[in-house]
Amino acid sequence: MNSNHPENLQVCSICSVSITEDGQVNFSNGKPGTRARLYARVCQYTEKPGCINREPELIGELTAQDRYETGEDLTIPTLSNSQTTN
Ligand SMILES: [Zn+2]
Repeated sequence: MNSNHPENLQVCSICSVSITEDGQVNFSNGKPGTRARLYARVCQYTEKPGCINREPELIGELTAQDRYETGEDLTIPTLSNSQTTN
């Protein structure tokens, strides 16, 4: 066991990130982000079981900023509403 890690730090071995108790996601590189950002960038494309960031209640609402760095101002095609949640 690694005692340097707080007990409540969750690690997603699928996405190679750790998530702190208060929901901060530490990516393997780049700035820390949120569960929403992690999901928008990684987890939604991950089909493997074991990804820990799959709870909509924890992920919350995805925003455009979650997909790309703020200020990067990329134009992305809008996907059709294939995953509408009710
Ligand atoms: Zn994951």
